[in-house]
Amino acid sequence: MAVPKRRLSRARQANRRSHLALERTQLVRCTHCGAMIRPHTICKACGHYRGRQITQAQSD
Ligand SMILES: [Zn+2]
Repeated sequence: MAVPKRRLSRARQANRRSHLALERTQLVRCTHCGAMIRPHTICKACGHYRGRQITQAQSD
């Protein structure tokens, strides 16, 4: 197994980890019913995607 030759300084480790944070999920409005949904997904509230009915709305 490969073994690192030198230990990383704290600064190098922190610089690498500066890109690891998770971003918030983006939400857009459903064009049919206005509910907040993730982009490029079928709307759970009304079952529409790109202006067409794909599935039946889920009733909870
Ligand atoms: Zn909808």
